[in-house]
Amino acid sequence: MILSRKNPSGITIKSAKEIDLMRQAGQIVADTKMRVHEAIRPGVTTGELDRIAEDYIISMGAIPSFKGYKAGGRIPFTGTICASVNEEIVHGIPGGRMLHEGDILSVDFGAIVDGFHGDSAFTKGVGEIPEEAQRLIEATRESLKQGIAQVRAGGRVGDISHAVQTYAEGMGFSVVRQYVGHGIGRSLHEEPQVPNYGEAGRGPMLKKGMTLAIEPMLNIGGWETEQLDDGWTVVTADGSLSAHFEDTVAITQDGVVVLTSPEGYYF
Ligand code: MG
Ligand code: MG
Repeated sequence: MILSRKNPSGITIKSAKEIDLMRQAGQIVADTKMRVHEAIRPGVTTGELDRIAEDYIISMGAIPSFKGYKAGGRIPFTGTICASVNEEIVHGIPGGRMLHEGDILSVDFGAIVDGFHGDSAFTKGVGEIPEEAQRLIEATRESLKQGIAQVRAGGRVGDISHAVQTYAEGMGFSVVRQYVGHGIGRSLHEEPQVPNYGEAGRGPMLKKGMTLAIEPMLNIGGWETEQLDDGWTVVTADGSLSAHFEDTVAITQDGVVVLTSPEGYYF
């Protein structure tokens, strides 16, 4: 979501039943991710990947979270997935663009079950990719893990932010600041905002029943971003490669559950 300056308020606490619906949405997202992941190869178009995701989500009785999504008066988003190639960070519009050997592709999407969202993203290389691009992808995946490892009742949002930033910058990459993770539930984007940079021990307190989408975006170059004229696609200002991983997590009575991982796992 776009970083906004409004005060954090109205963080929703979910019941066990609501978290169960989000788990169902998350599992559909996880299964869809695997299908799209397998289909990424040289010669495929982002529109073909979008169709794979949309067909599967609908076949499972769920609704794509992003299709028709409106933000800030922009034209509604036309895809089920955001497909962002190379220097594109997030919100790339799927269509006729063909993927080539050496590209990297970030795929971000969500699904709704009985009104509750799951939201997840991953980046994958297309065929053989340069070593630096592979390092970026692996560091971004690991920075998400480092952030999730900080989620616990009684902790703070800043614990997550700090862990992501420390790991990412330690690996020599920059962390996008203008786009952040978020609470999630009946709305795709809820409070609190979950930045990928910040100080441990700061920010809203984490409590049982909270559900968060944590989503580090790392760049090889600087963290500054630009938006293209299509009204959606966000790119790195310096044209450097960018990667993105995201999972939806819940703080339950039994611990932290990653709702959008293929089998759901506990830390
Ligand atoms: Mg997402
Ligand atoms: Mg998200």
